[in-house]
Amino acid sequence: MYYVDEHIKNTNRVFPQQGRYDYLRYDMNENPEGLPKEFVESVLKEITPEFLSIYPEPDRFLNKYAAYIGASYENVVAVNGSDMGIRYLLETFGEKGKDVVTVAPSFEMYWVNCCILGLHHVPVAYEPDMTISIDKILDAITENTRIVVLLNPNNPIGNVYTEDELEKVIEKTKKVGAIVIIDEAYHYFYPKTFIKYALKNRRVLVTRTFSKLFSMAGCRLGYVVGNPEDIKYVQKFCTPHNTNAFAMLFAEKIITTPGMVDALIAKFNEGRNYLLSSLDANGYRHKGEAGNFLFIEPKTDAGHIVERMKNEMRILIKEYPNVGEFGNCLRVSIGEKQYMERFMDSLLKVDR
Ligand code: PMP
Repeated sequence: MYYVDEHIKNTNRVFPQQGRYDYLRYDMNENPEGLPKEFVESVLKEITPEFLSIYPEPDRFLNKYAAYIGASYENVVAVNGSDMGIRYLLETFGEKGKDVVTVAPSFEMYWVNCCILGLHHVPVAYEPDMTISIDKILDAITENTRIVVLLNPNNPIGNVYTEDELEKVIEKTKKVGAIVIIDEAYHYFYPKTFIKYALKNRRVLVTRTFSKLFSMAGCRLGYVVGNPEDIKYVQKFCTPHNTNAFAMLFAEKIITTPGMVDALIAKFNEGRNYLLSSLDANGYRHKGEAGNFLFIEPKTDAGHIVERMKNEMRILIKEYPNVGEFGNCLRVSIGEKQYMERFMDSLLKVDR
């Protein structure tokens, strides 16, 4: 016999689908079109044997990045994808057996990490009309709570919180001695941010990622923003070379290339506007205030549509069960207009 942690033994995990190259991928909220090819090629020219052989040095990137988001170097820690940041935060500020409050459904790694780490997950369900009740979140926060997670916008539906709602949550967590994690993975698609709360307060931490608008999911880069004292706790937890040099080089080039971020946002908006008006014109109901994804109520069977799109059109989208009045529906990541046109053409062919 040998020892294996009970929580690891008892955690059931479903790992992401693979074999997705050569499809149009609108199932995992990436940017399937990616960064411009010429840009990628120009950055690759900087990769030398020395670049590969030396351990990564995050300070140069972090200094530039902190300035880019209006923070100081001490406010930011880079991580190997924001899912790693989430793990670090739950390990650092969670207490075994105590509560982590999240809306459910939301990004699955919150409850997976709770299972792995022996934290008690307290899910707050969506309302039947797929809105989120802030009062129910506040009611769920008790003396047993150590962490409250707000995804702004929430994944999967795209709901957002107001400043007033966040302030109420911060107030309540202060009273019970808990922290607030604000997951801004979909920032830039949704321009409002709560970063100022993380810079101003202890115990409020924001996570962000380079996987979505910045189109670097393959490289793995995310970061956590917070008060320097809280960031120091997270840094203690990090493995020594926690972020890779390729990711930081690409990220630095994205934020320092004039017009690059604006061009990514403009392309996205063009795709979103096209998709929304085309769905409306064809009588489809949809949900998703923010984020780079949309829920669509199909006219026929969602599972059948997903299968046919994959097998006949080589387009990957996701089926979601029980989404309020939509029932089983489709979730589609939003991309460039030309591909949204392909998606719409395909939908109209298979959904009848
Ligand atoms: N947070 C949310 C809300 C997400 O949807 C995702 C990925 N889909 C992540 C975090 C993780 O992103 P990454 O690890 O690629 O930075």
